[in-house]
Order: sequence, then C-alpha cells, then structure tokens
Amino acid sequence: MGFGVSGPADMGRESTMSAYHPLSAEEVTGYLAGVACLQPRLAGLGELICHEIGDGNLNLIFNVRAAGSGKGVVVVKQALPYLRCAGEGWPLGRQRMDFESRAMEIENRLCPGLVPELMYFDKDMSLIVMENLDEHRIMRKGLIEGVKYPRFARHMAEFLARSLFMTSDLYLPSDQKKALVEYFARNAELCKITEDFVFTNPFMESADNRWNPEIDAQVQALRADARLKVEIAELKDGFLARTQALIHGDLHTGSVMLNLDDTRVIDPEFAFYGPMGFDVGALLGNLVLSCCAHEIHSADPEARRDYQAWLLDTIRQVWDGFRQEFLRLWHDQNSGEATRPEFFAQCGGDAALRLYQRSYLRRVLKDTAGYAGCKMMRRQLGIAHVEDMECIEDPKDRAVAESLALTIGQRLITERHRVETIHDMIDIVRTTIGIRSPR
Ligand code: ADP
Ligand code: MG
Repeated sequence: MGFGVSGPADMGRESTMSAYHPLSAEEVTGYLAGVACLQPRLAGLGELICHEIGDGNLNLIFNVRAAGSGKGVVVVKQALPYLRCAGEGWPLGRQRMDFESRAMEIENRLCPGLVPELMYFDKDMSLIVMENLDEHRIMRKGLIEGVKYPRFARHMAEFLARSLFMTSDLYLPSDQKKALVEYFARNAELCKITEDFVFTNPFMESADNRWNPEIDAQVQALRADARLKVEIAELKDGFLARTQALIHGDLHTGSVMLNLDDTRVIDPEFAFYGPMGFDVGALLGNLVLSCCAHEIHSADPEARRDYQAWLLDTIRQVWDGFRQEFLRLWHDQNSGEATRPEFFAQCGGDAALRLYQRSYLRRVLKDTAGYAGCKMMRRQLGIAHVEDMECIEDPKDRAVAESLALTIGQRLITERHRVETIHDMIDIVRTTIGIRSPR
C-alpha cells in the first residue's frame, strides 16, 4: 500500500467562496449548496437545518439535518484561529484542520467503518464535512450512565491494531513512513498542548491547574514525589522522541461515538507520529477513570461491582483483541523495514521473529500502562477535567473517586516496568479500588 502526503487537500475544493471566516449556522446550508461534490448526497433531502452543537472544546461543530425527516445529514467542523474553550486570547493555528482531515482520511482507508466518512475538506476555510453520526452518542456519557457496549472492545481492538500497525515501520517502507513522520511533525502546536497539559503542568505548580481541595494533601505529595517525576519524564521523552506509529493523539472516551452495534473514532486533530502505547493507554486509562467514578455513580454495591467488572473485562478484551489482530497483521503483512523476513532466516526464522514480536508487544503494554497513568492523573490535577468526575456534585464524594484515580495513575506509571500481561495492569486497578478478582 502506501499513502503519499498529498491527500484530502485535493478533494474537490471547487467551492471555496472566500477567504477564511468562521461560519455562522445560517451560512452553513448555503455553503454546502456551493460544494459540487456534495450535491449527489444532498439531492432530494429538501430543506436543510443547521445548529451549532457548541460542545466542541476547540472548534465549531455544525449539525446539519433534513428539515422534513429530522434525520442527520452531515456534520461540519471548522477550526477557529484560537482555542475555543479558552477564548480569543489563546491563539491556535487553524492548520490543525489540515492534520485532522489528513489523519481522518488515512483512518478511513485503514479502518473503514470505524471512523466517520470524510466527505470534503476545504483547506482555505479550515473545515471538513463528515458523516453525521446521529445514531451514536459520545461514549463517556454512556459510561456515566452505566451502559454496557458489547461490540466496543472488538471494534476498538481493530481500530488500534490497524491504525497503529499499518502506519508503523512494521508495515510501511521506511521512505514512506518518514514522509508521513515529516508531514505530521508539523502538527507541533497541538503536540505542545499535550506536552504542557498532560506531561508537565499537572505535576508542578502552574496557574492553569485546578483540583478538588479535598485531595490537596495527595496532590502536594505527588508533586514532591521525585520517583514519579523521573518516570513521567521518561514517558514524556517517549512522546517527544519516538515516531513509532501515526497515533490519534487524543483517544479518550469523548473521542469515541457509538451505540450497541457500531463504534466510530472522531476528532483526530492531535494526530502525529508517537508511541503506540499513548493511544492504547488513553483509551484504557479513561475506562479506568470510569471504574473509579462508579465508586460513586453506582450507589447499589451489586450494580457497581457488575459494571466495574464489565469495565475491567472490556480493558482485557481491548488489549487481547488488539494484540491478536496486531500479530495477525504482522504475520500476514510483514512488509515494512523493521523485521524483514530474510534478517531472521539464519537464526530460527519464524521462531526468532515470534520472540521479537512478544518483546515488542510487551513494550507497547508497558507504555500503555504508563501513558494510561499520565492521562488519568492529569484529569484530576490539570486544566481539563472529565465529566465522569465533574458530575459528582459533593466534593467529598468526588474526592473518593479522584483519589483512587490518582493512586491508580501513580501506580500504573511507577509499576509499569513489572507489567508483563494485561492482568498485571488490571490487578493494579483492582487492588487499589478493592475489587475482588473473578479468577
Ligand atoms: P473538538 O475537537 O472541538 O472538541 P469534537 O470533534 O470532539 O470537537 O466534536 C465535538 C462534539 O461534536 C462531539 O462531542 C460530538 O457530540 C459532536 N460530533 C463531532 N463529530 C460528530 C459527527 N461526525 N456526528 C455527530 N456528532 C459529532
Ligand atoms: Mg478535539
């Protein structure tokens, strides 16, 4: 295969009416009417109505529906030249939509059916038009309510395996991979947000931090923990310095839209080349956050244990499915520079390659544990918190869940070197919360 770095910039940009300006909801339908390549899809739908959804942290999101049936037609996402949730005083380049559209296009090719279809990209307007997922909802909201999603683990295992394997040196020739690394390295502004707000500020004194005063003693102790800081610095170095695969870069449960049958990953604007474990860890860490929050959300002990058991089993299934699918791809499509078959031929062939594969995936698992820990901790300490915790009104109750999340996060980071299997990672969660093992 191979995918050059041109991409969706070439997707029928015949409509650009004017230079960049943020669209209003009223303008969107007129804008769409001017895009020739969309007309076959819009034909026969009659009048369209458009609302700005308004819950995007960074961007404008317009939900476009058919006035007659009320059915979703498309979603338009437009980058603003500043960070929306912080206001115009926080400039942020709108080229981030170039990276989002490029990543979404690659994900569509590698993981069809697991991301929204990308229909159109307008570089000048910094906007994309994509499939309207009006029968899906944001996973985090479902998790708060205690919904179990039976297909999520299988779908996400496939998304992770395919998107990570097929953009890595295990699959791509090194020149193609390096061209992609070079392109996505320009998404530096969004990487810097992660460097600051995931790996740095939450763990030191910083004006943007916010935390529940009820857990202040624990917060101060973490900031003074040299061993923890050394481990986080190591994980941060991995994020900065390793170009293992094209990662989504923000794969929390707010970037997954799903229902009982279907699962889609949205919002890849943070995409760049980094460690695979950063994506796997973001996803699993957010499931652990949900597990902590259910100490409070689920008042009935029976229901709580049941839901936490589902969450922990889902973590296991995501990892096991990811590992299995990743190995299958490696076996069937070992076409990259990293493990050329002739290299192992004289020293045991397949057996030697299998040994390397096991150690490779063990490293991804240790990274997964570490990055899950960082992503969990920063949500209690830093600028951006999660609804799982924020919706717990009583600060004392919230402190119970947040304190568990901090302790688990810290353990995942500092104990990751001895994590050999997914059960080791799950046991850290289980023993901290006090969930009995079903095994
Ligand atoms: P931002 O990057 O600005 O935070 P997101 O891409 O996360 O924006 O989208 C914000 C919200 O818009 C999502 O939480 C979801 O509710 C909605 N949304 C985004 N993409 C779609 C889509 N393709 N279909 C339906 N709703 C969507
Ligand atoms: Mg986003």
